[in-house]
Amino acid sequence: MSTPESCGLGTKCVQAGYEPENGGPRQVPIVQSTTFKYDTSEDMGRLFDLEAEGYFYSRLQNPTCDHVAAKICALEGGTAGMLTSSGQAANFFALFNVCQAGDHVVASSSIYGGTYNLIKVTMAKMGIESTFVSPDATDDELDAAFRPNTKVMFGESIANPALTVLDIERFARAAHAHGVPLIVDNTFPTPINLRPFEWGADIVTHSTTKYMDGHASAVGGAIVDSGNFDWMAHADRFPGLTTPDESYHGIVYAERFGQGGAFITKATSQLMRDFGSTQSPQSAYLLNLGLESLHVRMARHVENGQAVAEFLEAHPKVEKVAYPGLASSPYHELARRLMPKGGCGVVSCELTGGRETASRFMRALRLASIETHVADSRTCCLNPASSTHRQMSDEELAAAGVPAGLVRISCGLEDKEDIIADLAQALDAC
Ligand SMILES: *Cc1c(COP(=O)(O)O)cnc(C)c1O
Repeated sequence: MSTPESCGLGTKCVQAGYEPENGGPRQVPIVQSTTFKYDTSEDMGRLFDLEAEGYFYSRLQNPTCDHVAAKICALEGGTAGMLTSSGQAANFFALFNVCQAGDHVVASSSIYGGTYNLIKVTMAKMGIESTFVSPDATDDELDAAFRPNTKVMFGESIANPALTVLDIERFARAAHAHGVPLIVDNTFPTPINLRPFEWGADIVTHSTTKYMDGHASAVGGAIVDSGNFDWMAHADRFPGLTTPDESYHGIVYAERFGQGGAFITKATSQLMRDFGSTQSPQSAYLLNLGLESLHVRMARHVENGQAVAEFLEAHPKVEKVAYPGLASSPYHELARRLMPKGGCGVVSCELTGGRETASRFMRALRLASIETHVADSRTCCLNPASSTHRQMSDEELAAAGVPAGLVRISCGLEDKEDIIADLAQALDAC
């Protein structure tokens, strides 16, 4: 490998995951093929039995996707990784890989709306119950959320859109005390700014749609396993990993693939086989282009986010700013400990005057565009009250922690002076 473990994150962003053969293409090749050819049925049979490594059908695995997954795995410091069609698919697969009907999930309440819905509504229809805990819950409150049938704990390192910071060490301690793994969605800080495995998380997920792609070009997701969770030590709780899979010739994943390989092999050979939420090789190629500059871009997103947060905090028309980089943030100390290089470029603020002011502010923006997206090279803004949360009354919005005047600003890669000038003129106009 050209990028040994000891390489820096920047070097891994550029080079990890793919090593050209002598005379081979320098860039990761796009293997745009659904299927792969073999000389004998026996050759192919060994792949189906998971006895030999190789490709047979791109719904399960594809070389382009595997190179890019290996890069993300190297960045997170994991033992195995896989790509999925979206962040939603990544979180669903990561959770469903250890849960089934009759089981229970403990999750932070401060998470992405789509993930909240997945756990609260859709997985409930599959017979999987959930309990939500505040990211600020005390150790006793965390402890009380677990049940005998709890199989996993879930949280977001920096939550979208609340920008709360997860105390990963504390959540991991609670999960491990109950013999279950902690999954952390690390979409916002990316491994450039935070590596959850270093703080005790067991599995990391990503919406690669955000900073990893970074150019709003391809929807995608990723899962990485730390290899640190000992499934066999909790064999009764995780029969899917520790007892024979009758749908796969009686393979016991944790025995055959070990602690570092069992989780991802099961998610690929079982969940990807049956649900087919695969990432296209074209999208993986675009994702890889984004990853090559991730370390350069994240520093700029953080620089712009910090400057914008400080500008907004000092502005009379802004009531409140949520950004862990601000000394006034209740998460400032925790953020500095987990993310000494800063977190991300997303800033939330509440404008005085509520929905009407926010609406006038949004209309006056020139450089920043109105999008539901975040973590893009172009600065974009969203007022949930007039878009994603439109059906809710002001009272309902306040109860959900999304006040009517809340604006989420995703600071792009432009010059910070220009972003601030645009926000300033829009604040003047509203
Ligand atoms: C966007 C997002 C998701 C969902 O990802 P998609 O790629 O849109 O499916 C999950 N978690 C977080 C933190 C996100 O920001």
